[in-house]
Amino acid sequence: TALLQGKFAVVTGAASKRGLGKATAKLFAEHGATVAILDLDEGAAKEAAADLGPQHIGMACNVTDLEGVKKVFDALAAKWGRIDILVNNAGITQPLKIMDIAPKNYDAVLDVNLRGTLYCSQAVIPHMRSRKEGKIVNLSSVSAQRGGGIFGGPHYSAAKAGVLGLTKAMARELAPDNVRVNAICPGFIATDITGGMLTPEKLEEIKLGIPMGRAGTADDVAGCALFLASDLSAYVTGSEVDVNGGSLIH
Ligand code: NAD
Repeated sequence: TALLQGKFAVVTGAASKRGLGKATAKLFAEHGATVAILDLDEGAAKEAAADLGPQHIGMACNVTDLEGVKKVFDALAAKWGRIDILVNNAGITQPLKIMDIAPKNYDAVLDVNLRGTLYCSQAVIPHMRSRKEGKIVNLSSVSAQRGGGIFGGPHYSAAKAGVLGLTKAMARELAPDNVRVNAICPGFIATDITGGMLTPEKLEEIKLGIPMGRAGTADDVAGCALFLASDLSAYVTGSEVDVNGGSLIH
């Protein structure tokens, strides 16, 4: 069954080979969507798009650059005539303690995770509003809900908590225009976001705190994104969906 037949979707930060964005873009494509993969490096974005099939598009886009973001989304809307789905997936994290967060760390982490989500949403909203149809899926994190404790520092928790607030406020404002906005809060998922800085000991410690006893996979998150981007979730907006193996059961 093709849940996204004829739909056009943009996924930011989706060039990372083992990442959540790439898995999401792939699942969307398998369900009939035409996908644009945006990422910092144009070659990597184009390569990731080509993996999905010839109709998909890879473009360079730094989500923190307002003018650049606008250009890319307007170009896609002109080419496709519509944008149905945006997944705000681009994100970075840093394993810092509170007193080690320097201004440049704060700027980097808040800018990509939170400012980038705002800018890409602002770029796509006019296109969705004019057609009275759209779905925005934001990547938050269990770190927002439980105050870190996995890998990212307090500035990452704050940025991802900001994403939850932004998600709910956008959902409220855009609901009359039939644009739904939801957030996914992944728990610990094995991707390259930790940049090789996660020790085997820390990994074991993390797994002990997960009732399902394993790290999540990128496909676990992609399945949730598909639900939120499709009509299966027609009456769901402003929600935060946990994909964490039971990490928050208490
Ligand atoms: P990843 O590092 O594999 O992929 C992130 C991608 O974002 C990379 O391709 C990177 O180039 C891109 N990116 C970084 N800065 C960018 C910018 N300014 N503009 C455009 N693209 C940019 O990470 P991932 O694990 O797949 O994470 C995806 C999202 O899920 C992130 O928002 C992350 O915070 C969130 N998340 C991940 C986990 C996890 O355990 N992996 C848990 C909770 C939330």
